[in-house]
Amino acid sequence: MSPTPVPNSTTPFWRTELHELDSHRTTPDLPSDCDIVIIGAGFAGAALAYYLYDDNPSPPSVVILEAREACSGATGRNGGHMKPDVYYQVPKYIKKYGVKAAVDVARFEASQVQAFKALVEKEKIDCDFVLTRACDATLDPDLARDTHHAFTELQKSGVANLKDVFYAYGKDAEKLSGVKGALSCFTFTAGHVWPYKMVLHLLRTAVNKGANLQTHTPVTRISDTELPDGRWLVETERGSIKAKKILLATNGYTAHLAPQFRDKIVPVRGICSRITVPKDRPVPFLPYTYSIRHGVGMYDYLIPRPDGSIIVGGAKPKFWHDRSQWYNVTDDSKLIEPAVPHFDGLMQRTFKGWETSGAKTDRVWTGIMGWTSDFMPYVGEIPGKPNQMILAGFSGHGMPLILLSAKAIVQMIRKGSKFEETGIPEIFRATEERLKSTKNEILGSNSQPKL
Ligand SMILES: Cc1cc2nc3c(=O)[nH]c(=O)nc-3n(C[C@H](O)[C@H](O)[C@H](O)COP(=O)(O)OP(=O)(O)OC[C@H]3O[C@@H](n4cnc5c(N)ncnc54)[C@H](O)[C@@H]3O)c2cc1C
Repeated sequence: MSPTPVPNSTTPFWRTELHELDSHRTTPDLPSDCDIVIIGAGFAGAALAYYLYDDNPSPPSVVILEAREACSGATGRNGGHMKPDVYYQVPKYIKKYGVKAAVDVARFEASQVQAFKALVEKEKIDCDFVLTRACDATLDPDLARDTHHAFTELQKSGVANLKDVFYAYGKDAEKLSGVKGALSCFTFTAGHVWPYKMVLHLLRTAVNKGANLQTHTPVTRISDTELPDGRWLVETERGSIKAKKILLATNGYTAHLAPQFRDKIVPVRGICSRITVPKDRPVPFLPYTYSIRHGVGMYDYLIPRPDGSIIVGGAKPKFWHDRSQWYNVTDDSKLIEPAVPHFDGLMQRTFKGWETSGAKTDRVWTGIMGWTSDFMPYVGEIPGKPNQMILAGFSGHGMPLILLSAKAIVQMIRKGSKFEETGIPEIFRATEERLKSTKNEILGSNSQPKL
């Protein structure tokens, strides 16, 4: 059976200022029944809870069950980078799924950044959100050439909305990006955020409106079939809850409760760090967020924070060849040791003018992502399980995908909308066909994650 989240996880920078709800239990005991159980209190679970209560005069009773502390999974340990993929994977998706599906995904991703900004403003969320531009800088000659050809073809075809994408190839790339040796660079609208603060704000809002949050409550089992009254039995070490509806927001751990997702949503361990600069050393301003592409699927990515520090993730060239470090790994209590030294001197090696910055690694942590075998998330009703829905499997790319997916699921619940009426890309639907497929693109030669 797939394992549940481990205790004693590494401490990410984002979890160094804990919110009052971090280990919260709204009631000392679990209620015996409710309308909706949400399993998982990361971005997906919190966004579902938020929308279930948002502007809802007669909300359902909702219990949120979280195995560890609130937002202690991938969301609390990520790079804080909200970067929609508006061009990079589009040519590949056109070949695989056709123009409409590929363009739908790019449009959906791009719209999330603006939706997120609107939410932060509406709810006055104090989460260091910054609307900015992402800069993808490519160092590898083969990848720069292939990306160039794919992008120019995409431009010629006119099918995708590339109005917001600025592209420089060749000599200007290094100057525009500030990245040493950049052979090409793309910039486009993106954001960055303190993810833990954002999620805890959403949870606070839902709890204030009646949600029952139960942290440190791992769900051990969901009944195989519905009870005679049509409800599902959700079992935990602290007792069971009967629920009319179950929403799985369990990311890389999904298969533990829903075995049909085994090998479909695979736990993949990633690593992140925080780099600081001594206060007395002026360093060149970093105007963007960055992805530094070293080769196909090999990258570092980073966000400059308002406090002057930099959050950097990736380091894949240092450990990706050793599958035991990342594939099917759920232990985020340990670092990926071969990757740790990679962050030392990364700013000095990467950026022009940073050679004498004194930038140094302040903290390193790991986290568990949920990668899907076809790189598409699972969103919506679970086949063969009436009244069970899923929002999981963002393949290390959840920040520009989760908010509007959660909103759409809630629209299905509250208004009875059909999947196709919600704006969720069709290829995100959790279908029987996807669950039956034995293809695993994670381990295939064309695995090309987005960041
Ligand atoms: C190191 C790292 C860096 C990343 N960087 C980025 C980035 O910069 N940009 C980006 O877009 N994405 C990034 N990601 C991916 C992103 O963090 C995820 O896509 C996103 O946070 C997923 O949110 P979630 O709510 O689905 O999952 P999670 O945040 O993992 O939440 C799932 C929750 O479910 C709980 N849970 C699981 N099983 C059970 C159970 N049986 N009972 C009760 N609770 C359970 C877990 O404890 C967890 O809290 C990164 C991920 C990692 C690990």
